Amino acid sequence: MTPLSQLPLEAARSVRVVLTDIDDTVTTEGILTAKAYGALEQLHRAGFIVIPVTGRPAGWCDHIARMWPVDAVVGENGAFYFRYDRERKTMEQRFWAIPEELKQNRMRLDAVEREVLATVPGCALASDQAYRLADLAIDFCEDVPALPEAEVDRIVSIFEKAGAQAKVSSIHVNGWFGDYNKLSMAKTLLADVFGLDWEQARKTVVYAGDSPNDEPMFEAFPMSIGVANIQAFAHRLKHKPAYIANGHSGDGFAELAGLLLRARGA
Ligand SMILES: [Mg+2]
Repeated sequence: MTPLSQLPLEAARSVRVVLTDIDDTVTTEGILTAKAYGALEQLHRAGFIVIPVTGRPAGWCDHIARMWPVDAVVGENGAFYFRYDRERKTMEQRFWAIPEELKQNRMRLDAVEREVLATVPGCALASDQAYRLADLAIDFCEDVPALPEAEVDRIVSIFEKAGAQAKVSSIHVNGWFGDYNKLSMAKTLLADVFGLDWEQARKTVVYAGDSPNDEPMFEAFPMSIGVANIQAFAHRLKHKPAYIANGHSGDGFAELAGLLLRARGA
């Protein structure tokens, strides 16, 4: 991982789209600081396409798409994207699965939930589970004391044994049925709404993240950036980001925004 300060000016100038994880990338210890939110707003105002790509639930994403200074949001690790059209006052939603599949998947996830909670002491159903439509989130670090890594691995293996995908964020293990992730839905969104094919996307997108559920994005985008706290997860990553910010969490995101804005002369 090369220091972010060494990102070539030419590369910074080619960025049109800022995709970013939220937890511990834009937020800092669970808080959305004015500095990080201001960075999102400045990027948006300067004309960058700004899209959070998060594991957070549909309920939150409705709010984010509607109220934050962003162009769209990908939620529940790629289960859907939401985009609020401010002129037509409509919320555009695209899900990976059809409603019938979502219903079937929920029953299978309910069984996984029972097994995880019965088998791994100390974990809990994530507090935001009630607002989720496609996945199951198990808290190992947000509202419960942090679990050791081996217990996190046990949670992952219960999902995988059931035939589900599981990804570890900085706070939750998220699991789902369906062949999608943050990357596949981000690609769909960029093509559907912003008319960017994959070649164009690779040249114009920057992605910022902090943990293993960001790995598909780090692998796919040549301009991928980890905020400094990614060091804690580096040993779990097969695909590390190309660059690493000096700042932690929201400070690291603001560092990236400042660099992009300066490169554009904004
Ligand atoms: Mg994160």
